[in-house]
Amino acid sequence: MSDLGDLYHDMILGHAKAPRNFGKLDPCDASALGHNPLCGDRIGVTLLLSQGRVTDVRFDGSGCAICTASASLMTEGVKGRTRAEIDTVFQRVHDLVTGKGDPEDPELGKLAVFGGVSEFPMRVKCATLPWHTLNAAFDNSNAPVSTE
Ligand code: ZN
Repeated sequence: MSDLGDLYHDMILGHAKAPRNFGKLDPCDASALGHNPLCGDRIGVTLLLSQGRVTDVRFDGSGCAICTASASLMTEGVKGRTRAEIDTVFQRVHDLVTGKGDPEDPELGKLAVFGGVSEFPMRVKCATLPWHTLNAAFDNSNAPVSTE
């Protein structure tokens, strides 16, 4: 896992070109904006919640392929989950992209494709920005989050 071919895995490219759940929920129960100045990624996340579970989620904005694919796969992975469950998934993703996780971890599912990111420290924030933004939405923060 050390060349760009591994980083830009087919699944990442597929989601980057045709992101799932792209757009904005209006009205929504929670929203946040995220910015990664290192790369220029800017995304917004909107959520609908019911009894502490995410019933719908969308993201919009403009990010690089890694950021867009991460947001797309994240939105697919968090529907129906509680914040605590989502925190657990994010921790696994974070460990994976920082080289501490296990790409074979079955709990990661499709998110395992981001394992290649650990070879590219500059890209870690691209992959984690959507998750930080989702957390900010849960906090119902009106202040834009930044990876810096
Ligand atoms: Zn990026």
